[in-house]
Amino acid sequence: SRPEAGGESSPEKLLAPVLSAFWDQPESWTLETYRRHEGYEGARKALAMAPDDVIAYVKDAGLRGRGGAGFPTGMKWQFIPQGDGKPHYLVVNADESEPGTCKDIPLLFANPHSLIEGIVIACHAIRSSHAFIYLRGETVPVLRRLHEAVREAYAAGYLGKDALGPGLDLELTVHAGAGAYICGEETALLDSLEGRRGQPRLRPPFPAVAGLYACPTVVNNVESIASVPAIMNRGKEWFRSMGSEKSPGFTLYSLSGHVANPGQYEAPLGITLRQLLDMSGGMRPGHRLKFWTPGGSSTPMFTDEHLDVALDYEGVGAAGSMLGTKALQCFDETTCVVRSVTRWTEFYAHESCGKCTPCREGTYWLVQLLRDIEAGKGRMTDLDKLNDIADNINGKSFCALGDGAASPIFSSLKYFRAEYEQHITGKGCPFDPAKSTAWA
Ligand code: NAD
Ligand code: SF4
Repeated sequence: SRPEAGGESSPEKLLAPVLSAFWDQPESWTLETYRRHEGYEGARKALAMAPDDVIAYVKDAGLRGRGGAGFPTGMKWQFIPQGDGKPHYLVVNADESEPGTCKDIPLLFANPHSLIEGIVIACHAIRSSHAFIYLRGETVPVLRRLHEAVREAYAAGYLGKDALGPGLDLELTVHAGAGAYICGEETALLDSLEGRRGQPRLRPPFPAVAGLYACPTVVNNVESIASVPAIMNRGKEWFRSMGSEKSPGFTLYSLSGHVANPGQYEAPLGITLRQLLDMSGGMRPGHRLKFWTPGGSSTPMFTDEHLDVALDYEGVGAAGSMLGTKALQCFDETTCVVRSVTRWTEFYAHESCGKCTPCREGTYWLVQLLRDIEAGKGRMTDLDKLNDIADNINGKSFCALGDGAASPIFSSLKYFRAEYEQHITGKGCPFDPAKSTAWA
């Protein structure tokens, strides 16, 4: 779904979806449909350019990684050493699993060729002849659709022998992961792809220097790569005409929770949650926003005071959080913050790969304390303990999963400490007394 016209917060340029332009058309996923919508035009233009010029073009467009970190895509491509005699690889991270994030999987389901075309362009730019898509394994229907799209692309000559020009071959392998959150971390993903247990590697060296099979590797998110064909086809100025100076372009937001119309919404970076809610039908009738995440549960939560924060990397950062995956999970006044944070923390404890002590032990202890508080068995001193444990995880863990686990603890205590205290003094959850003994 996408924002509807009408209202002050829907200027013309908010209404021109690119990635989701024809998701609602019959058989949107076929090569035939894709070709009717500028399909493979961007690749045609890019392949007529020198690889370095393509990299410079994407750099100038200002595209930033859509997986969460916002690292400039063109710069990442530029890190790949040239003339080193080693194979170069492109690995597309399709292991989308940040809680609340649901944009890459719908994109792959509705329009897989936009990703394949982006792969052709990126491989030309970094001089790679083998790309991989690492897909979240539970999404079997998406896996089937992706396999079919890859088969179509081979048959049409966009992949395979002489795909990038005479003598230049491009192979594309689709690999289904086994459903571990940590395998979305780029180096754990590479370990998993190589056939090992997925655990993060020490960085540096970054994958650009030593990635898949110790060769220079670009790891990019699905949405990042799928955004490239339109940039090459319509131009960098067109892309820069949307969004903000430092965060240009369009993007996909996942709107979920207590909203009237949850779904994927495509809009320029820099839009606000208030505008998105205005255009999508708002919170569910009769209820008001209490708290929300700008980029999934790993990013510090916001409250209704943050409705006008610009949803770009700078705006969200200045307001004390991170744009992350742009997963806008909205909770109304009926939601218990302690219960929500407990549920998220259980997820991190379960998904912790166990490699480093702060995350492995810390997330376990956070869950014990949170369960006690939620069940009405907590003590006031537990609140400082929660903060202390989160502090010993944050910035002291081996990878970003640990920092992500600490985020909801810090931010919920910052904005909703009184609600934690209510659980302790009232000896149970004020929202649902029946739940107060859930962990007894
Ligand atoms: P990061 O900032 O460490 O790195 C971002 C990218 O830039 C990586 O590809 C990295 O290799 C590259 N990079 C950074 N510095 C580099 C350098 N000096 N030389 C070469 N390359 C360099 O972020 P990260 O730890 O890879 O990812 C964290 C992000 O992942 C968070 O912001 C979070 O929002 C996001 N995340 C996304 C999901 C999801 O489902 N999409 C799940 C969990 C977390
Ligand atoms: Fe594993 Fe957690 Fe340490 Fe990351 S922070 S390496 S997930 S234990």
